[in-house]
Amino acid sequence: MKYVDEFRDRDLARTLATAIAAAADPARDYNFMEFCGGHTHAIFRYGVQDLVPANVRFVHGPGCPVCILPARRLDDAIELAERHGVILCSYGDMLRVPGTGRRSLLKAKADGADIRMVYSTLDALDIARANPGREVVFLGIGFETTTPPSAAAIAQAQAEGIGNFSVFCNHVLTPPAIRHILEAPEIDPSQAARLDGFLGPSHVSAVIGSRPYEFLAARYAKPVVIAGFEPLDVMQSVLMLIHQVNEGRVAVENQYTRVVTRDGNAKAQELVARIFELRPSFEWRGLGSVPDSALAIRADYAAFDAEKRFTLSEKQSRETKSCECPAILRGVKKPKDCKLFGKACTPETPMGACMVSSEGACAAYWTYRRMETLAEMAAE
Ligand code: SF4
Repeated sequence: MKYVDEFRDRDLARTLATAIAAAADPARDYNFMEFCGGHTHAIFRYGVQDLVPANVRFVHGPGCPVCILPARRLDDAIELAERHGVILCSYGDMLRVPGTGRRSLLKAKADGADIRMVYSTLDALDIARANPGREVVFLGIGFETTTPPSAAAIAQAQAEGIGNFSVFCNHVLTPPAIRHILEAPEIDPSQAARLDGFLGPSHVSAVIGSRPYEFLAARYAKPVVIAGFEPLDVMQSVLMLIHQVNEGRVAVENQYTRVVTRDGNAKAQELVARIFELRPSFEWRGLGSVPDSALAIRADYAAFDAEKRFTLSEKQSRETKSCECPAILRGVKKPKDCKLFGKACTPETPMGACMVSSEGACAAYWTYRRMETLAEMAAE
């Protein structure tokens, strides 16, 4: 398949592995955070960790949209469906994530709430058109990649006068999260020091461009390479990061030039800026409260803002006890450090979001490294 097969070529992978091995200085370690869950899965699916020397390590970051939504926001979504009786539309991964008391949207649906899985915001708009007597709420989650479709749905609803459609907005922003990881002492004082660079998001960067990461290079002296999601993309990006580290350079480089430009997608950015504004603060699972890290719907579009249309109660929301998702999302623990992995928690019986999502680290370990991980846990 064009643009896929050539980025999975075995011989090219061997050539890159040889180049990485030659470039990596055996006298030091290289710790690179892959921000995106998509990269985590590419690394595991194609065995990239096994193709690089042992002193080149991947630190999994918080870039899984389903994983970072805290229990409180999920509990709010369940309340919208149950107490307010709306038709709640959500992407499929979100349905199985446990909220407080391990209650999920799927369980709420089984209890009678009208919760529907959709593939796009357009599906949610169709449901609103087909049910003019019902309130329809789209559960908007995700990073800069999924924000433009939510903005487009709101613009379309306004243009058509669809008055029964609104968005429960949980869209978050990547650069402030990276900044928070590097700055927040409550995350792990040693973490910023042990990160040597970032594999930058690919799809997110297609929208926002590579320019927003330049502050990282300038202020925190951490190299960034925007990396595509195919295995050769990841390997080439690792090699570029190693070269930067070895040469003492700090720059934002773009490996994913076939998709990402420095300035990104101007039309998408304009649409998002028209509909959304910065939230002063947003709670992330694992990162806690992060300033300026999420979007809210502008007052001009309040009619399409579920948080304005419906009153949500105060809650004592709780993450699942013993689930290590928060520490895994901060990059300070791995799934093998969770005693529930592969025992109480499997994809069939997920105790936390990282085991549910197709971008979650626990799901990646389960799918591609289950036996090794369980063996490591047994040996400890
Ligand atoms: S294995 Fe399950 S319980 Fe443990 S951190 Fe991962 S999602 Fe949470």
